Parts: sequence; C-alpha cells; structure tokens
Amino acid sequence: MTEEKKGYSIATLGSHCSLQVLKGAKDEGFETLLVCERQRLNLYKRFKFIDEILVVENFNEILDDSCQQRLRQSNSIIIPHGTFIAYLSSEQIEGISTPIFGNKWIFRWEADRELKQKLMENSGLAIPRSLKSKDDIEELCIVKLHGAAGGRGYFLAWDKKSFDEGVEKLIKRNAIKGEEELYIQEYVSGVPAYLQFFHSPITNELELMGVDRRYESDVDGIGRIPSRQQLAVQLEPSYNVVGNIPIVLRESLLGEVYAMGERFVEAARRLVPPGMTGPFCLEGIYDREGKFITFEFSARIVAGTNLYLDGSPYSDLIFNEPMSMGRRVAREIKIACENGVLQQITT
Ligand code: AMP
Repeated sequence: MTEEKKGYSIATLGSHCSLQVLKGAKDEGFETLLVCERQRLNLYKRFKFIDEILVVENFNEILDDSCQQRLRQSNSIIIPHGTFIAYLSSEQIEGISTPIFGNKWIFRWEADRELKQKLMENSGLAIPRSLKSKDDIEELCIVKLHGAAGGRGYFLAWDKKSFDEGVEKLIKRNAIKGEEELYIQEYVSGVPAYLQFFHSPITNELELMGVDRRYESDVDGIGRIPSRQQLAVQLEPSYNVVGNIPIVLRESLLGEVYAMGERFVEAARRLVPPGMTGPFCLEGIYDREGKFITFEFSARIVAGTNLYLDGSPYSDLIFNEPMSMGRRVAREIKIACENGVLQQITT
C-alpha cells in the first residue's frame, strides 16, 4: 500500500448499498467510515469491515460543520448512492467540501426531469414519449413522482379520468400537493432490465458489471391473484422496490448494451464536465423486438449491484477475482492514489 493511499478512508451513508461499498473498500485495504442514523445502528454495528461509525439522528446532519470536519479529519472520500440523492438536494450535494467520488454535478441531471431527458436524448438512447399534459393521454401511461422515489406512488393512467383519480389518491395520502408535481410518460410494454456500468476516466474504459431487474410490490405480486379477484377489488399496482433479481442477457444483445453505455459516457463528457465517472445504470424495457427503451438513468451506484458481492457473469469476464461494484469503486480510488490522479475521479 502506498503512503498516499494509507491515509484515506472510504465513507458513505448507512443505507442502500453501504454494506457492499464498505466491504469492497476494506477488501482493497482502505479504512471505512459509516455515517449511520441512530435507529439503524443495531444493523450496521454487526459488520466487522466497518472501522468507524459516525452516529447521526438524521442523514441531513452530514452537511453539518461538525460532521464535515470529522470526515475531513479521517481524510474521507464519500461514495454517493441512492439515499444520498434522496436525502440531499442538488445544491446541498454540490456544496459539500469533503471529496465525493465521481462527478457531483451530474446528480442535478439525475434529479431534474428535463435535464435527465436532455442527457438521454444527447446519448442517442431510445426513450419513452413524455406527455406535457393529461389532455394528451390517449394510450397507457405511467405517472411518476419527481426524484429518486424508488417507484413509490407511481400509477398507471389511460385517459384523463384515470389520471385525475390517481392524482386524487396521491393528494389524499399527502404524497403530493398537486398534479404539477407529476410526470407522465408513455408506458412501454416488455421486460425491465437495469444495465450496471462502470466507467474509468483513468483508462477511459467502460465495463458492464451486471444486469438486474427489480422485485416490486405489489406489481410483481398481482400475478399471484386470479384475474376474477383482481377485477373485483380493482387493484392498482404500485412499484415499491423490495429487492432485486439477477438477469443474464442474450449474448447477442451485449454489443448494443456497450454501445449505449459508451454513447452515454460521451454525452455526459460533453454536457456535464468532467463527465460520467464510476458506476452508472441505464434503466429500461426490452420490447418484443429486443430493442431497449431507456426510461431512467442513475449517475451513481444502484442498489441492484448488491446482488453481485462476489462478482457477476459480466464482471467475471473482465476480472479474475470477485469484483463487486463497491470493490470496483475502491479499486479505482486505489489506482488513482497510486498514480497521483485522485482529483481526476473526485469532485
Ligand atoms: P423507476 O423508479 O423509474 O426505475 O421505475 C419503477 C417501475 O416502473 C419499474 O418497474 C419500471 O419497470 C416501471 N417503469 C418506469 N417507467 C416505465 C415506462 N415508461 N414504461 C413501463 N414501465 C415503466
């Protein structure tokens, strides 16, 4: 281990994929630090690969001077994940002075629907049509809440009336204040797939690290109920993620998977300097012709990578050792430290 690397500690928030991230960091020889909400301490204190736990009442406290000071003291590099994005606004993330692995400016593009669409269009990805108004709904649509809501509160609408009914239910549940908070998208039928990539700005190589699909309640459970009962109780599916399921793709699809990933990296380089550093995910549906329609991207590690702690059928083709996404991130930091180019992979 070089002197330079010895001094760094890998830090993250205790949620989402923090176990995988810190296990990977430890495997690569780093010190590990977890910012943990008191209510979750009972879970995280079990794991020996976590060297230090910084207890907070709420994740927002990571912004406090005392917390930032503590992170800087241990020479931390923060690994951002979905909870980080969900709890903090783009301004708050951009204002953090502790180094963040990857490009912190790109999270604004993940959080903002219009920027997100712009980046996907510039990547030449096929994307679902988005509808400006409920008056334009003529076919099955999926109505989404802004931000990384993990599919919670999404509903399907096929005309103005069904849209209004869905909105009313969300308002009653205090999930939204008004329909302007919603985003209407063409519903693409086919099968969902989440393509997990890693891009190294050091080698300028793109690696496909895994593919998964989400296991969502209750849309994945509705098929367990006979249609007569489904109709009788008028079930509305929700898309709350409870876990992830591994997928291997037909090998003939892989060429296009890499091409899409590379176009995304290129577009991010043009639009959001310094570009797409580290893990990202293209999220979409394979239609009946095997064409991938991308409905979302995540510009950071996704929780579906938790499947592949010991590597995936794709990472095994690239690395001759078990390589989780968390470990891959730590490996990149290690290489950057050894070559004195840490500023190339942090912001
Ligand atoms: P998300 O939170 O955006 O990743 O999506 C949550 C769920 O909604 C997943 O099951 C997706 O497959 C589904 N979904 C999102 N957008 C679309 C779309 N445009 N067409 C069909 N299903 C979608």
